[in-house]
Amino acid sequence: MMKRLNAFFKSLLLIELLQGMAVTGRYLFARKITVQFPEERTPMSPRFRGLHALRRYPNGEERCIACKLCEAVCPAMAIHIDMEERADGTRRTTRYDIDLTKCIFCGFCEESCPVDSIVETRIFDYHGEKRGDLYYTKPMLLAVGDKHEAQIARDRAADAKYR
Ligand code: SF4
Ligand code: SF4
Repeated sequence: MMKRLNAFFKSLLLIELLQGMAVTGRYLFARKITVQFPEERTPMSPRFRGLHALRRYPNGEERCIACKLCEAVCPAMAIHIDMEERADGTRRTTRYDIDLTKCIFCGFCEESCPVDSIVETRIFDYHGEKRGDLYYTKPMLLAVGDKHEAQIARDRAADAKYR
């Protein structure tokens, strides 16, 4: 009975509403911690596993030697590679695709790569608007690598310190 009376008076006197407003008032003048993305960004680990990129050496040559380790290790079977042998005996990919709708961003591909070719970047704010937009081909992956090589190189150097 007392419980029900308490609840009735609490409800009548809007006690819970006032308690709620007191909490709102307390936080109204507190330091704001909401991050204003995309102008502001939170700190990010150099090991962040975002959008993939294929890297080149400083002379412009593709790093990838078409060993297919990344394709073999990928648990989602998201990577597809075709290759050919050049006249000088080196191997290069003729096709390197990643289906990002299959990818689970486990990082196994970059871990397995012997020449630091396929990497996962810090880029996470990308999207697709129609079917196939998230099917990244070799030219698309190389373009990501070319654009972000400086950041990728810094992240790889920072990561190497912990290995
Ligand atoms: S991150 Fe994992 S799932 Fe995605 S392509 Fe690489 S190995 Fe495959
Ligand atoms: S990206 Fe690396 S692991 Fe994959 S085929 Fe090329 S060299 Fe091999």
